[in-house]
This record gives sequence, C-alpha cells and structure tokens, in this order.
Amino acid sequence: QKIRADFPVLDQTINGKQLVYFDNAATTQKPSAVINALVHYYQTDNANIHRGIHTLAERATRDFEATREAVRAFLGAASTEEIIFTSGTTQGINLVASTFGRKFIGEGDEIIISGLEHHSNIVPWQMLCEEKGSILKVIPVTDEGELDMEVYASLLSPNVKLVAVNHVSNALGTINPIKQIIDQAHAVGAKVLIDGAQSSSHITIDVQALDVDFYAFSGHKIYGPTGVGVLYGKKELLNAMPPYMGGGEMIKEVSFEKTTYNELPYKFEAGTPNIADVIALKAAIDYINVIGKENIAAHEDALLAYATERLLKIEGLRIIGTAKEKVSVVSFVIDGIHPQDIGVLLDNQGIAVRTGHHCTQPLMKRFNIVGTTRASFAVYNTIEEVDRLITGLERVIKMLK
Ligand code: PLP
Repeated sequence: QKIRADFPVLDQTINGKQLVYFDNAATTQKPSAVINALVHYYQTDNANIHRGIHTLAERATRDFEATREAVRAFLGAASTEEIIFTSGTTQGINLVASTFGRKFIGEGDEIIISGLEHHSNIVPWQMLCEEKGSILKVIPVTDEGELDMEVYASLLSPNVKLVAVNHVSNALGTINPIKQIIDQAHAVGAKVLIDGAQSSSHITIDVQALDVDFYAFSGHKIYGPTGVGVLYGKKELLNAMPPYMGGGEMIKEVSFEKTTYNELPYKFEAGTPNIADVIALKAAIDYINVIGKENIAAHEDALLAYATERLLKIEGLRIIGTAKEKVSVVSFVIDGIHPQDIGVLLDNQGIAVRTGHHCTQPLMKRFNIVGTTRASFAVYNTIEEVDRLITGLERVIKMLK
C-alpha cells in the first residue's frame, strides 16, 4: 500500500470501479518522484545543456549528466561514454542498424534474430538486409515459447555478423538465456544486440559480465517518462561506428570542406535532447534502486505464480508461453472468445489489460492465433487485483458463452 501511494494514477475509478492496471509491459505508471522531477526541471532549471555558461544551463547540464552516471551504474557499464540517450528501445535498435549495420554488414552477411521479437527488433534488420543484400535468419520458438537453442547453434557461422534478440519476450514473458546466446555468437565472431525493453525493470543487468556489445531499453517501461531511452554500446564499437544523425552537439568542428565529429557519447546525440525526461529518468532509477530489483522481482514472481494457478482453473483458457523462466507476464486465449472482446469487457470493470498481437505478429502466427489477452504485473500490483481479474474473466465468459 505504501508503494501504491507513490503512484497517483492508481487512485481512480474507471467505469465506476477501482482501476486495476495490468498493462505494465506496454508502459509502467510513474511514481510521484518522477512526475515531480519533470515539474521541478521546468519550474526551476529549464535551459539548454552543454554550451551555456549561465546558472540554469549549468544546473540542467549537471542533472542531465547525473542521469548518465545513474544509467551507467544501473547497467554496470565501465564508462559514461558508453551510455547514449535515445528516444527509446526502438531508436536504439535503429541507431545500431543504421550505423554499425551500414558500416559492418554487407552483401551475403547474416543477421540472426528470433521468433520472439517485437516488430522493432525485426523491421530495422529487414530494412538493412534489403538495402545491403544481407540475409536474415530466425531462431525458432518451441511450443513452450522458448528459443530452440539447438537450432540457434546450427545457424551460427563466420557469416553471421550480428545476433539481435530480446532478453525478455513482451508477448509471452519468456526470459531468454542471453549469456549463452552472447558467448556462442562471440565464438563465431558475431556481435550481439540485446533488446532490454522488457528486462530492465525486472532483472539486474551487468553489461560487462554479460560481455554484451549493445543493450537498449526504454525509460517508460521502468517507471520513467516516455520519449527517453538508452543505448549502451561497447566503447571500441561506438568509436568505430559512423554517427547516426548529423546536427548540433555531435560535431567537433564544422566547415564546408570537412566536419569532424564529437567524442563519445555526444557523437550519437545530435540536436537538443529530451532534457526533462532524461533528468526524470534518474528519479525512476533511484526509485527502483531504493526498493531493490530483487524485491520487485520477488513480488512480481509471486503475483505471476498466483495468477497462473488461478487462470489455469478457468475452463477453456489456455496460457500461451509456459517457459521455465518467465517475468511477470501472462498471455492467454479463451476458446471461442476474441481477445478484443475480453479487453473491452474487462475495461468495463475497470481492469486494464492488453489484447492483440503485441507487435509480435510472426509469433502469433507461430502459435496460430490472432492474438492474446495479456496481463503484466508491476511492483504496485496486488493479489487482490489478480482476484479482480479472475472474477472479471468469469463474468466475461458468462456473458459471451
Ligand atoms: N522491444 C520489446 C521487447 C518491447 O516490448 C517494446 C515495447 O513494447 C519495444 C522493443 C519497443 O519499445 P519502445 O516502443 O519504447 O521503443
């Protein structure tokens, strides 16, 4: 209850019922600390960063760079030079495709992704393959929703230049064995990008221990604001890559004859960044650190176990994604009822879930379904709310069957 009080949005009724928010894999709610950081910045410190010498500019720069240091520690990175601010996971992946991809992946080279990917970790690689004549290969998904690691091993060869997979599947909750994926990729000389959109709020990340080459995440999925994300990249790779966008801040010197580029991480941060949201991201990271990721994960795991047990007792309900290692996401279908109808009728009862393909259309095709209903839990959710979901579903089934 103390944690719930930190999230003002939860204190409201929807359609006459206390809100139950179970769409956390799409975006998490924001604690007052994050909202206050945004307000504080605009009320007291608003200025452009890095070049100003007046007090407001100094304060804004100090707080912006303080977030970079907080992110460095959050990811276990060696240096803040390896922390690039983006607008989110999608931009981080596109940055790697457009810079590393354009420079180091050519005709006939191979890129491996997986059948569990979000569209944002599929389409940028398809675009690159189309442009360069490279080849996209896909690790298949088992009936349980796990990656087929035997096939993965067989896909690896010196032709593979990059492996890009998610740490956690947004549609099914599967936690992928990324350390093994990274080590096996490195053994054939391939680099690895991990899409951390769904892992960064649940699992402690140590990019150095993982030896991962690129790791991307979004602020809004870890209790921070929308519009800000992070791309971690190994320094030697970032140095070898061309810039992403051209403009202010990313340059050292500009003349019409030749422009030289700024040092890391600024080489990849053209233009005025999303200063307020970057500053507020630190409040989100501090919030997670104070509670402790292990404590958050333990609470969410308990909710997942309870929800899974209760859902399985509902007749005609099938859980899609039964991997041994999962985060707090449960996706299911109910015989004869379209997920969208479930979503609308749960919303009528004040319960917010996600329905549809979850931006993973190939995965839905793999399971031969149009979509699922997905409940995803966060630190502020409770057992009583899971009970509300179960009662709500029973009511939906009674209405529609
Ligand atoms: N990857 C995964 C696994 C996701 O779940 C999402 C968002 O749902 C993304 C990437 C894209 O994140 P964003 O829209 O914040 O860029």
